[in-house]
Amino acid sequence: MLKTLRQIIQEVSSAEDFKDALEIMVKRIAQALESDACSIFLLDHHKGEYVLTATKGLNPHAVGKVRIPLNQGVIGLVGEREEPINLRDATLHPRFLSVPELQEERYKAFLGTPIIYHREVLGVIIVQQKETHKYDESEEAFLVTLSAQLAGIIAHAETIELNKTTYAGIPSSPGIGMGTGVVLFPSLDLDSVPDREPDDVEAEIRMLEAALAAGREEFRALSERICPNLPVEERALFDVYQRLLATTDLGSEIIVAIRRGNWAPGALREVVQHYTDRLENVENQYLRDRSIDIKNLGYRILTYLQNHERILPDYTNHTILIGEELTAADLAEVPTGCLAGIICVKGSSNSHVAILARAMGVPAVMGVTDIPIYELQEKNIIVDGFYGQIYLEPNNHLRQEFENLVKEEQELENTLDHLQDQVAQTKDGHRIILMVNTGLGADVGLSLAAGAEGVGLYRTETPFLIRDRFPSSEEQRILYRQLLTAFAPRPVIMRTLDIGGDKNLSYFPVHEDNPFLGWRGIRITLDHPEIFLVQTRAMMRASEGNNNLRIMLPMITDVSEADEAIRLLKKAFDEVRDEGFEIEMPKLGVMIEVPSAVYQARALSKRVDFLSVGSNDLTQYLLAVDRNNPRVANLYDAMHPAVLRALLQTVEAGHQEGKHVAICGELAGDPAAVLLLVAMGFDSLSMSAFSLRRIKWVLSQFTLIKARKLLQEVFSMESGVMIRCHMELALEKAGLGGLIRAGKK
Ligand code: PEP
Ligand code: MG
Repeated sequence: MLKTLRQIIQEVSSAEDFKDALEIMVKRIAQALESDACSIFLLDHHKGEYVLTATKGLNPHAVGKVRIPLNQGVIGLVGEREEPINLRDATLHPRFLSVPELQEERYKAFLGTPIIYHREVLGVIIVQQKETHKYDESEEAFLVTLSAQLAGIIAHAETIELNKTTYAGIPSSPGIGMGTGVVLFPSLDLDSVPDREPDDVEAEIRMLEAALAAGREEFRALSERICPNLPVEERALFDVYQRLLATTDLGSEIIVAIRRGNWAPGALREVVQHYTDRLENVENQYLRDRSIDIKNLGYRILTYLQNHERILPDYTNHTILIGEELTAADLAEVPTGCLAGIICVKGSSNSHVAILARAMGVPAVMGVTDIPIYELQEKNIIVDGFYGQIYLEPNNHLRQEFENLVKEEQELENTLDHLQDQVAQTKDGHRIILMVNTGLGADVGLSLAAGAEGVGLYRTETPFLIRDRFPSSEEQRILYRQLLTAFAPRPVIMRTLDIGGDKNLSYFPVHEDNPFLGWRGIRITLDHPEIFLVQTRAMMRASEGNNNLRIMLPMITDVSEADEAIRLLKKAFDEVRDEGFEIEMPKLGVMIEVPSAVYQARALSKRVDFLSVGSNDLTQYLLAVDRNNPRVANLYDAMHPAVLRALLQTVEAGHQEGKHVAICGELAGDPAAVLLLVAMGFDSLSMSAFSLRRIKWVLSQFTLIKARKLLQEVFSMESGVMIRCHMELALEKAGLGGLIRAGKK
C-alpha cells in the first residue's frame, strides 16, 4: 500500500497541470482500491456547493456541471462530519441524493473522505462499487492518508485555477498599499549559460572587469540615491554588494574559473551556482535569503557582459513591486516616492527585503506562494501589510473601503505626531520608561525623534551575521561606539552574541537536530570565552566617556551560567581598565526567556542589576511552539494565560530583590498587551521605533487603576484568544481601534 501511495503522489506531483493531476488521481485511486468509480468534488466556497471536478466511472460530461449544495447528499455529509463515511449501499442512506446527470444509480458501495488542508475542507474524494460491499479498514485508512497528502497539492493548484482574487501571505511590513502591479523577472537566464572554451583568456578577463566595474557603478549610484533615507544596517547591505563585485572578491573567483578554461559568462555561472547551491541548503533563513542577492548580482554582471543596457520596468506612480525573489536592489531601483507596496512569492518577514520595506515604511507581504505572479503586470492591486492579504482587481466598493482606510491611517499618524515630545505615562501620571530595540533596522534618528529613552535591546548578532568572519575587536568597538555615542547619555543595553537556533553564522556552522534546544546564546559564548571576551571588551572600550553601556546575557537557564558570565565580565573589565580606559563597570542584566529562568528569577536577580523578559523566546519555550514554523503559528500566542502568569511572576521576583524589570520581546510593542504589562509592574518596555508613539498613545488614554482592573479580569480567563479579544475591545471602546487594525475609527 505504501508503495502505491508513494507512486500516486509522485505521478500527481509531476502532472502537467491541475486538470491532468486530478485525472491521474481519480484513475489511480480507482485502480488501487479496485473500485468501479472514483470522483473528486471540490468546494466552491462562494456558492457553498461541491462541484464535480474529476471522475473515473461517473458521467464525464457532468464534470464542472454537477453541483451539490453543502448540506445535501452523502457527499455533503462527509464534508460536514469532516470524517470518512463508509457505506455498503449508499442508495439506502437517508441523505442519498439522486442526481440523474451523474449516472450513479448503478453504484452501491460508497467510501468518501474529506480533503482537508489547514483545518479547511477543500472537497471530498469518493470511491464507489457496483456491488453491495463495505470497504475494509485498511482501504479506508489508505484513502484518508492519500487525501491528506493530496490536500496540499490541491490547495496550491486550486488557488491558481479558480481565478482567485484574494491571496494570503506573511504580513511583513504594516500598512495599506494601493497601486499597479510591476512584475520583475530575470531578463537573462544565467542558469542556461553554457560552458565554452575562451579564444582569448586575457580578453575574457578584461570583459569581466569592465562588467564588474559597470555593476559597481550601478550600485554606487543606487546606494547614493536610497541610502540617505536608510538606517545603518541596511546601508551596509549596499556596501556588501559593492564589495562582492570587487575584482578581489567574487570577481577573483570568476577570473580563476576563466583561467581554468571557461569563457567569462560560463565562469560567472559556475561561481554564482557554487555559492547559491551552498547557501540554499543551509538551515539558516538569513543565509538562504543571501543566495537571492548573489543570484541577482550574477544576472546584473551577465547583462553587462552581453553588452545589454539594463531595461528598467515601467514603474508607475503607485508601483506594487512583485517578484518571485526580490532583492534590496530591486526596491532601490523604483523611483523615489513611487513604491506603494511589495509582494514576494518567496521569503519571510526576516528577509532583507522585508526589513528594508519596514525601514522605508512600505507595506509588504512575503511568502505568497500561490499567487500567479506573471499575470499581475499592470493589474490593480491592494496590499494589506497588516493582515498579509493581497486583493487583485478590487471592485469599486472594496477600493473605496481601502481608500478610506489609507486616509484614516494618515490621520492616525498625524494625531500621533504631538506625542513624540511627551513622556510615556498613564492618564493618572504613572511613568513608564520606553526604550527601542535596535540591530534589525532601527534608525537612531527615528528612534530619538519618536522619544526613545534609550536602547532596551541591541541585538549584536546582526553585524556578525552579515560578515564572512567574526568581526574584529576594533571593528566591534567602532560599531558599538557609534550607537553608544548616538544615544548618550541615554542607556544602551547591548546583548552579548545570541547565535544558534535559527541564527547560524556561515563561518561558524552548528548542525543540530533541535537547534532551539541546543547550542544557543550564552551556551555558545561560555564555551568560547574568547568570543565572549573579545565582544565584551569591545563594548567596554566603546563606552569610555559616555558610560551609558549596559550588558545583557541571552538564554540564561541556570544561575551557574550567570555566575560564569559575571566572572568573565569582571575579567574583561579589569583588562580594559589595565589598558588605560577610564570606564565604569557596566550595569548587568539577564534575559528571562526560558521557563527555568522564570522560576529562578529571584536567584538571578540577586546576581545582576536588572532583568529583561524576552517574550518571543519565552512564549516559544513555554508553549513548545517553534516561533518560526508557519504550521504551528496559530498556537504561538504571547497572550496565552500561561505566558502572562510567567511574566507576572518574573516582575514580582525582580522587585522583591529591588531590581529593575524590563521586557523587550515583541509583546512590549503590542498595543493590546501594553496595559497588562504596565499593570504587572514592568519598569520599562522596549520595542521597535515604529511602535513607540503608538504605545505612548495607549498609555495616555488609560489610568493605572483601569489597567490593573483589566489585568484582574484577564487573569480569570482561560484562553489567549479571549484575553486578546477583551483587550482589543477595551482599545476599541477607548477610540484606539486604529492601533490594532487598518483604519482609525
Ligand atoms: C526575545 O526572545 O523575546 C528577544 C527579545 O530576543 P530575540 O527575538 O532576539 O530572540
Ligand atoms: Mg530571544
